[in-house]
Amino acid sequence: MIPGPVEFEPEVMKALGRRTRSHVDPEFILQFGRALNSFKEVCEAPSAQPFIVSGSGTLAMEMAVANLIEPGDHVLVVNTGYFSDRMVKILERHGAHPVQLRAPLGDVPRIEEVESQLTSGSFKMMTLTHVDTSTGVLLPLEPLLALARRQGVLTLVDGVCATGAETFHMEEWGADVLVTASQKALGVPPGLALVLAGPHAMKAWRERESPVGSVYLDFAEWLPIMEAYAAGRASYFATPPVNHLAALDVSLSCLLNEGMEVRTWRHRQHALALRAAWRAMGLKAVPVGEDVMAHTLSALYLPEGLDASFAARVADEGVIVAGGLHPELRTRTFRVGHMNTVSASDVLATVGAIERALLRSGHVREAGTAVHAAQEHLSTIHGNLRGCNSAIPLTAPAFLRGQGGL
Ligand code: PMP
Repeated sequence: MIPGPVEFEPEVMKALGRRTRSHVDPEFILQFGRALNSFKEVCEAPSAQPFIVSGSGTLAMEMAVANLIEPGDHVLVVNTGYFSDRMVKILERHGAHPVQLRAPLGDVPRIEEVESQLTSGSFKMMTLTHVDTSTGVLLPLEPLLALARRQGVLTLVDGVCATGAETFHMEEWGADVLVTASQKALGVPPGLALVLAGPHAMKAWRERESPVGSVYLDFAEWLPIMEAYAAGRASYFATPPVNHLAALDVSLSCLLNEGMEVRTWRHRQHALALRAAWRAMGLKAVPVGEDVMAHTLSALYLPEGLDASFAARVADEGVIVAGGLHPELRTRTFRVGHMNTVSASDVLATVGAIERALLRSGHVREAGTAVHAAQEHLSTIHGNLRGCNSAIPLTAPAFLRGQGGL
């Protein structure tokens, strides 16, 4: 129960462990092509161009910046934590001038502040972290994206800790670039960097004057490859991560079988059950209000008298949670990830383990209060909260049924 890498579906792990095919094998061509298409579907961005390469989320961030930014460009960074700081570092390395709009820890900047920043400078791009994994803060994207669109400013959304679990209508909301990674709510072990570039972003890339400062990251190298596989043909620039892409194909089919609306709802319900438990244990969340709280992870202050060893105490109770990450929060917080395969039973097991650890340290007096609070919320929910796995046999496309492993 950490905020990534998370637990993965057995079918995904099977795809990862199958014999590695050639990158020109007809079956792989089909898998890669389908994965490219499913990625657009998951993000609801039919007109966007996907790029999926070997790497992690940081590489996806750098790929977007390397292609869209030219030296001297001004960029507004809406800073909600550690990963916004990383964006600043990447932007600076590529010659941009980032201006940071920093909210108080656990909060998001007010829309008026963003608007006044956007109108006061000649920004080419604004960057937004959908969920910052160090603070558990969820940025309300829709109004910010609309604002940038009105101002003619490109938007780059870091969806690493959100894509596949938080509501995101890329095209409808007008986001220009999404960057993400495989190891969280997209449901594939670490190893894939994913970028989705909408028409405005592709136009900005086509119109750039200076060459992209990296061969491996250059859209120009990858565009023909992505276009070829999407059209059912093989093409080579650099060897694709064949097994990871086969696993992504399976995982994204899982996501789409579950349905993005159901999936985001499931993540929200689990988050609500957990929040009820945190309240029952007197644990304070880092995000300042429910409206800016992620549904993919919880960042919580440690009660007075506990230190960073608390995560190990919870592990002793049988559940792995994460320590703090943000420099100002590292020793004062712990984090619980609740993405991808997480079920109601996982929620209860996690709350139980944390509650026992707090009982043993004397920070909770009565056993079962927190479990009861979570259970109360879970018992109000009807329908399938088991995740995508259970949906596979009912609606599996022919390619999955044919593989025998499901
Ligand atoms: N952005 C966010 C919001 C993240 O949570 C992470 C990783 N936890 C990254 C970027 C960087 O991704 P990676 O570790 O895969 O490079």
